[in-house]
Amino acid sequence: MPRKPTEHIGIFGGTFDPIHFGHLRAVDEAREILACDRILLIPTADPPHKRERRITIARHRLEMLRKAIRGCKDLESSTIEIDRPGLSYTIDTLRALQSRKTSTRWTLFMGIDAFREIHTWKEFRTLFSTVDIAVLSRPPERVVRPRSILPVAVRQDFRYSPDRKSLVHASGHRVHFLSVTALDISATDIRDRVRSGRSIRFLTPTTVRRYIESNRLYRKGRPAS
Ligand code: ATP
Ligand code: MG
Repeated sequence: MPRKPTEHIGIFGGTFDPIHFGHLRAVDEAREILACDRILLIPTADPPHKRERRITIARHRLEMLRKAIRGCKDLESSTIEIDRPGLSYTIDTLRALQSRKTSTRWTLFMGIDAFREIHTWKEFRTLFSTVDIAVLSRPPERVVRPRSILPVAVRQDFRYSPDRKSLVHASGHRVHFLSVTALDISATDIRDRVRSGRSIRFLTPTTVRRYIESNRLYRKGRPAS
């Protein structure tokens, strides 16, 4: 019997507070470039109180995400981090996913701003030997010298692939740097606009905008929950 080709799944985590066209377009282009069968979008769990800003409760963030991707069969939401008690770390999420589907190929997507912080993540060195990573351009940054963006602690573990389009870790896993359509949209800006009564049309899908309006999210003087 012919063997079923290995499924390739992309993983894209974030607070998604709210999800917007910057996320959606970037992830869809990355899916296409890397020929992923589907993408899991994973909202972070509710963080403990007294962080630098109140994040909207997971129920709302998840609902907005679901509305944004409704009808896109290769984009799926996952509650794996929301369902797990306490704060989730990417390495734990990856291990949980990998143990559920052992023959799947996984690629972890993130914007370049997130990648620049990767040295602060739990077991970040292990992350590079656990999964392929796709770093997506995000304005104002484009990747010019990929090696210089790697955390210093892991630089010696990488070499350029012969086509120089990705870096290859000693484990064989790769870090890809992908240039996607530059959409300078952020959730912070969307929240600010709502708070000051400005329009957010065309920054996020209409279904998400309507959800924000009908649940009065991000309004001045209201807790973000
Ligand atoms: P906030 O302003 O609240 O930080 P955000 O817009 O940065 O929100 P996040 O939920 O923090 O969104 O980001 C989730 C992931 O999406 C991160 O990896 C981030 O780099 C990436 N991302 C967010 N916006 C864009 C964008 N406009 N283009 C490309 N990647 C993006
Ligand atoms: Mg962010």
